Amino acid sequence: MRLSLLFFFATLLSTSHASFNSDNPIRQLRRPSSGLTELGYDYKINCQSFRVGVEANNVRDWSTVPSYCKNYIKTYLTSKQWGLDVEAVANEAYEYAATFQKDAFLKDIWVFDVEETLVSNLNYLASSTVQYGTQPLGLNYYEWLRANSTVVPAMKELYDALLEMGFPIFLLSAAPSSERETLVIALEDAGYSGWKKLILRDEADNGKSTVQFKSEKRQELKHFHYRVAANVGDQWSDLTGEEAGIRTFKVPNPVYYVL
Ligand SMILES: [Mg+2]
Repeated sequence: MRLSLLFFFATLLSTSHASFNSDNPIRQLRRPSSGLTELGYDYKINCQSFRVGVEANNVRDWSTVPSYCKNYIKTYLTSKQWGLDVEAVANEAYEYAATFQKDAFLKDIWVFDVEETLVSNLNYLASSTVQYGTQPLGLNYYEWLRANSTVVPAMKELYDALLEMGFPIFLLSAAPSSERETLVIALEDAGYSGWKKLILRDEADNGKSTVQFKSEKRQELKHFHYRVAANVGDQWSDLTGEEAGIRTFKVPNPVYYVL
């Protein structure tokens, strides 16, 4: 009896060891698919995993939301969850600002991205042109922004609180400077005022990635003795690179990816 039990456990151990080595357990999690998916993988990523992966900066360089995730993204954006997620970001940022020790010599500022950070284009993202990111953004993006932008409520509350705390606010967008009026109208329609400067992409910045463009602009601010106390944006390209900020806050955006 004792010998047969030993044989049983020895067999069990050798079998589990063999199966662990012979087949990568991570691969077993992958769902089968035929050929490459829209993300270029040989497996279909779960839609919630896609969204979390985007926010964590693990899923990168994607062009459109996988078509089979359209309804998932639609539900995420139009249910309460997206708003709650933005609120959580704003609350963290507020707590950070409220206890922030300003420098005695440097000028501590907050940097905000504009599109999908302070103002939302949910109607545009839901339109038949974009279909919740399963289609690329169209050329008429700025027309929509000018006419239909809406406020991101939690970000507006944070913005107003920061002004009250005395932080100078710099808006840094990769939009072309030819659209300056469009952005000002969109911001004002959404209720924003009191920013110190709206920095946009000039002709000399054409061809630069967003990371390079925004890094250079933040470095210019540093030369004027500004220190980025915090930086808020919906894209990782807003929040990475040089002088990215003592803290960064990522507003959730599972609809598009900007290099
Ligand atoms: Mg943005």
